[in-house]
This record gives sequence, C-alpha cells and structure tokens, in this order.
Amino acid sequence: MSLRVEHPAPVLRRWKCELTIERNKRNRMQIKTILNRVQKFKSFVFGTVRWIEGASVPTLEVAIQPRINSRPVCSGCGCKRPGYDTLPERRFEFIPMWGNRVFFVYAPRRVECPDCGVRVERMPWVEGKHRLTEAYAWFLAGWAKRLSWKEVAEAFRTTWDHVFCSVERAVMWGREHQDLSGIEAIGVDEIAWQRGHRYLTLVYQIDGHCKRLLWIGEKRTVKTLIRFFRWFGKERGQALKFICSDMWKPYLKVIAKKAGQAIHILDRFHIMSHLSKAIDAVRAQEVKELKEKGYEPVLTKTRWLLLKRPENLTDKQEIRLADLLRYNLRSVRAYLLKEEFQFFWSYISPYWAGQFLDKWCTKTMRSRIDPMKKVARMLRRHRPLLLNWFRARKQFSSAIVEGFNTKAKLTTRKAYGFRTYLCG
Ligand SMILES: [Zn+2]
Repeated sequence: MSLRVEHPAPVLRRWKCELTIERNKRNRMQIKTILNRVQKFKSFVFGTVRWIEGASVPTLEVAIQPRINSRPVCSGCGCKRPGYDTLPERRFEFIPMWGNRVFFVYAPRRVECPDCGVRVERMPWVEGKHRLTEAYAWFLAGWAKRLSWKEVAEAFRTTWDHVFCSVERAVMWGREHQDLSGIEAIGVDEIAWQRGHRYLTLVYQIDGHCKRLLWIGEKRTVKTLIRFFRWFGKERGQALKFICSDMWKPYLKVIAKKAGQAIHILDRFHIMSHLSKAIDAVRAQEVKELKEKGYEPVLTKTRWLLLKRPENLTDKQEIRLADLLRYNLRSVRAYLLKEEFQFFWSYISPYWAGQFLDKWCTKTMRSRIDPMKKVARMLRRHRPLLLNWFRARKQFSSAIVEGFNTKAKLTTRKAYGFRTYLCG
C-alpha cells in the first residue's frame, strides 16, 4: 500500500512551485514591458511588480530602482551631484491598469549639492511634492474635460481633490505655455464643492474662436479676482471687450474697477439658475406644508416637471405637468413666472427688454412668494447690467455673443468637466 504513495506529493509540489515562479516571472515581465513602453526613464529601472493583498481596491506596486552607477540629479539645479543619503520609500500613484490601482514605490536619494545644499533628487515621474505621477495627473485632467470632476474621481477610484489638483496642474502648465494675446471676452464663474463650504473661481476665455479655461483660484472673494487680473496683466485687462459673470457682488466690484471699459454682462445661464433655485425652495416649503395638513401629496415627484423646460419633457411628463397646473399652488405660480421670464431673452431692443423686465418684477413682487420676490429684487438692482446682454448682442451679432448664450456656456462648462446643473 505504501507503493501507491511513493513521493508523488513533494515532486508535484516542487513542480507546481516552479511553474508558479515561471508564470510569475512571465507576468512580471509583461507588466514591466508595458511600463517600459509607456513610461521609460533613462536613469531608473522598474523592479519587481507585486500584488498588495487585502487592499480595498486591487492594487499593484511597482518598485523603481536607480540604474546601477547612475548619479542622482539635484531637484534644485538639475545637475548631477554626489549622493548624501536615502529617504524612506514613497508611493506615487500611476495610471490604473485594468481597474487596478498602480503605485510606483521608490526610496528617493538625497544629494549634497554645492549650490543648493542637501536636496531630494529629481524624479522624472513626479513634480515637486506631489503624490500623483505626472502621467496620472495628465490622464485625470484629460478625462476631466469630458466628465464632471466627481465622475472622474468615481470612475478611477480616486478623490475629488486629486482630480481638482490634476486640472489645476494642467491649467498652471497652460498658463506658462499658452498665448494670451487677443483675448476679448472672458467669463467668470464659480463652483462650490465640499457641500458648498468651499468655492473656486474660474475664468474662461469665451471668444467665438477660442473657448478655454484660463485660470483657477481659491474662494470667490474680491481678492481672488484681483489675483486673476494681476496675473492677466493690466494691458490685457484693459483690452477686454466683454466680461460675463454672475450677480456676485465681489466679482461685480472688481470687474468694474479693473476692466470698466468692457461691457459687463450678466449671463443668462446664471440668471435662470437663480430662478430654478427659487422654484426649488418654494416647492420644498409647499411639500412640507401639504404634508402637515394631510393633503394628498400632489407635489411629490414633480421637481423635474417644474424645473425642466417644457420642450424637454417626455409625453408622460407633459400630461402630469398639465394636470399639476390645474392646482392653485405657489409652486405652480412660481413655475409660470419663470416660464414667462423666458420671453425676456427673445427681445431685440434693450429698451423693450427693460420694459418687460420692469413689468415682470412688479408682478412678481405682488405674488407673495418670497423666494421669487428675492430674485425679482436682485434683477431690479442689476437692471443696467442685465440689459447689457441685449446691447452686446445688438452690437456684435457675431460668434462672440454666442459665448454668452446658454448653450455655448453649457458646452464650455461641460468641456471643462462641470456638472451641468439645471438651467432655464
Ligand atoms: Zn543643486
């Protein structure tokens, strides 16, 4: 009976083991080969590639080593310098492969530089103190042109901050390399993130022939926009013909001061989104009241009916909207006011547009719907700037004005990865 089990187990085990090593070697070879194709560094080589067990997302780590006999380069001056010591290993995130996160692992050397002192060496895959490799940052920034920043973060299992940081790096790079001559029209926009606690100010070029993101700054204060104009330069600022922005006070102030010669336009997109927000507030309040009074929930699931343009509704939604409009609800009256306001944009003459605006505001002020009254007051306050929209369109019927219309604005936003939020 002992004959049947004559050492097959150890033999088999050894054979299996060799096979695994061989297979691993082959796998490793393949990943290294790919990396050498896409990202080869002169003075560094890729070492072992390994799986990180137990990570929440499948993760690959690729070791990087300095090529034998290569001397480190000082990150300060870019010269080859004698080594000083070696720092602990650091991880740099690279472009994910087949849904796996990929990290480069490298223990940076420090150099003793006669000019710069003791410095970390230059690593060609990363810039400064970033944790994302250059390749990954460009990869994310590229996707951020097609998807919203949030979507990019989700798709590649990274954070909003990393995506933002990558876009910022791309814009910074652009700042140093782009041609800023001949810019006549800019748009100033803000985005909120972290649940509205933090803001960014974005400035685009919106000329007919060229739409692009020019500048990103933190917050949305007077200082923020002043920083933009300082960077942009006095001469270029004074050559601007159009500026498009929201009714945000700090922006209005700075624009009037720094580019008073330009026609300042409050864009349609922002104005309509103020109205949409007002409707949202009215509806939310009314839903609550109806519920408390125990009425049939006529307003539940009507948000999109009231916010979408009628031409974008499906047949079914159209029927439901018609049904809803029979009720004398504040939400319905607010909706009708907003739809009426759409006529404003169809005027050609600034004078008649102004007349319409005044009538609409008076009517809205009598509506006893507070959020709508708030918008009406705001529009009244900015009457001249609102009417600039018509002056600009009259004066320049060309592609330039297209930059201000909702559709173009939306495309620009989308092109730079904004969530296209609701508009009129
Ligand atoms: Zn140096």
